[in-house]
Amino acid sequence: MLSRWNDEEARDYCRRYAAHGELLALRVYTSRLIGREDTLVLHGGGNTSVKTKCKDVLGNLVPVLCVKGSGSDLAEVEPAGLPAVRLQPLQDLRTLELLSDADMQNAVRGALLDSRAPNPSVETLLHAFLPHTFVDHTHADAVLALTDQPDPEAHVREVFRDDVVLLPWIMPGFPLAKAVLAAFERAPRCRGIVLAKHGLFTFGDAARESYERTIELVDRAEHYISRRIGGRPAMLCGEPAPLPAAERRVFLQRALPVLRGAVAVAIETPVGPAWQRVVAEARTADDLAAFASHGQARALCATNPITPDHVIRTKGRYLFLSREAALDPGLCRCEVANYVAGYRHYYETCAQHLAPGSMLRPTPNVVVVEGVGLVALHGSRKAAGIAADIAEHTLRVKAQAHALGKFEPLSDAALAQMEYWPLELEKLGSVKEPLLHGQIALVTGAAGAIGCGIVEALLEHGACVLASDIDGERLDVAMRRFARHRSQFATSVADLRDPRAVATLFAECVTTFGGVDCVVPNAGIADVGRVEDMHPARFARVLEVNATGTMLVLQEAAQVMRAQGTGGSIVVQASKNVFAPGEGFGAYSASKAAVLQLARVAALEFAEFGVRCNAINADAVFGDDDVPSQLWQQVGAERMRARGLDAAGLREHYRQRSLLKTEVLPRHVGEAVVFFASMRTPTTGAVLPVDGGLPEAFPR
Ligand SMILES: [Zn+2]
Repeated sequence: MLSRWNDEEARDYCRRYAAHGELLALRVYTSRLIGREDTLVLHGGGNTSVKTKCKDVLGNLVPVLCVKGSGSDLAEVEPAGLPAVRLQPLQDLRTLELLSDADMQNAVRGALLDSRAPNPSVETLLHAFLPHTFVDHTHADAVLALTDQPDPEAHVREVFRDDVVLLPWIMPGFPLAKAVLAAFERAPRCRGIVLAKHGLFTFGDAARESYERTIELVDRAEHYISRRIGGRPAMLCGEPAPLPAAERRVFLQRALPVLRGAVAVAIETPVGPAWQRVVAEARTADDLAAFASHGQARALCATNPITPDHVIRTKGRYLFLSREAALDPGLCRCEVANYVAGYRHYYETCAQHLAPGSMLRPTPNVVVVEGVGLVALHGSRKAAGIAADIAEHTLRVKAQAHALGKFEPLSDAALAQMEYWPLELEKLGSVKEPLLHGQIALVTGAAGAIGCGIVEALLEHGACVLASDIDGERLDVAMRRFARHRSQFATSVADLRDPRAVATLFAECVTTFGGVDCVVPNAGIADVGRVEDMHPARFARVLEVNATGTMLVLQEAAQVMRAQGTGGSIVVQASKNVFAPGEGFGAYSASKAAVLQLARVAALEFAEFGVRCNAINADAVFGDDDVPSQLWQQVGAERMRARGLDAAGLREHYRQRSLLKTEVLPRHVGEAVVFFASMRTPTTGAVLPVDGGLPEAFPR
């Protein structure tokens, strides 16, 4: 590992953050250097601090500790992410023998200079007690491989000699802060403190010194490991050989819906039974697949995390599945049930006395599939991605530790203390889960006005969305507005007339998110012309896109939903024209009538595996300037001419035509889709008008 310190960059930070003083500016700089090294910390892990002076409300300079606040990620930290806490009241706590977590948190928050600042790190007292200006704490992979061992002392002494102090596992918070201070006072010349099965602390009077001590110590550990493991690859390599890379993706297309279905939890809600679903993120790099085919993989998956901080993201143990079990819904459910029983036992024996009656969701967050790789499962794609990143590092560290000697993490009892520690759970926040949390939707025709409104509503209500259209450029333009939901959506270009393209589209949805729960065949084209003048080829083209395209989408949706075994919702776009056809709209009306009948027959046939099929009957949806309705671009001019109106006049004409005298927005159609996707009423085979009220188009 190399130091990434650069004098020019450091000066740049000092200029950029001049208002905060040089010490804090350099603290931001080296915190980011650490945060951007994924073998040092991952996703908000680790913490850093600097002792400096800040002005209080009276204008007096007071000594403070600026320490990482919860919710910050070192890789992107800003000065505001390192809230200032008065140093003296914290250091006074050193004299206490015992301090409860609640009192500690109260004392730390009470010493904040800004009462609105985020909670300072749970390690704040440790940072405050050490005398150095800068303190850096990481969960370096190499240090974990050395210390997740039955005898960490032997490895640590060989690598670091007397340059570090080694402490056994100690619960973070006040006890650890006291222990680290005592260790430092016993060995004031040490360059760092290694916490067995947890991580590393380094310190110094300059930002560069403290940072480069971390780098130097981790570098020594890395060299030691590669010397000891010799020419062997860092990862386990076993028999049978892993699946070839190209086959892993194909395998996952079949396995992920099965796995996702097995991990979904049936729950009772005030409106009846429902599913708590998860989103899947798979990783199949060669070394992960090699790990997953090794004879020790199952045993290593059943061990605790490499550092306890990870437990809130990944749980203690990972589920190991044979390839056979990953494809067979019965076997897969059985393996998940065994995992759940194991977790329940762990909770009852180790955690129940800490948090009575509040067992966390007992299903696995990480599954390792024999010879394929790993799959992370969480309610949101972001959380699944974090768990997957952590799991990748975990497998690599476990393999290294195994090669070095024997992987031995902290005990179940210690892990439960972390997993059910209120201060740790606070890191996850207490945001209420959105309505469609864990659901995956696929929307076709997403580049159009209505498609865009549907995607927007699904994203806003927490679903993951694969947005598809035949026109990639228009799709990119339409989806730009959803940048803030980046982790929750993906796009794909597909021509729905081609059965292989539709199959590929669903395969993409499965490999990206894990499956599909809500399918909205929304793509459609119009063709204006009277029956007398209708050209057979143009008529056939409208039917092919609108009706055949919908049929192909229904077929693929049924396959994935059957494999999941957790029901689902399909919502097709009928049109006002089905009930109240307009002159010159023969091809479009006929195709939409076919779509509605298909949906009704699908409602009859798909009910046996819990899938509902409904239709929306929307009218006069114009969209906005960025994403206008293609249908209205096509027919609007003619309608305006016929009625002697301009564009605004035409909108007003349609508004006044409805009973509610209201304009129908794309988002309204989206909300109707969300209603069906939420499954709050037992409804299938229905048509929901979203048209402001048109008596001639009342469904009948
Ligand atoms: Zn830590």
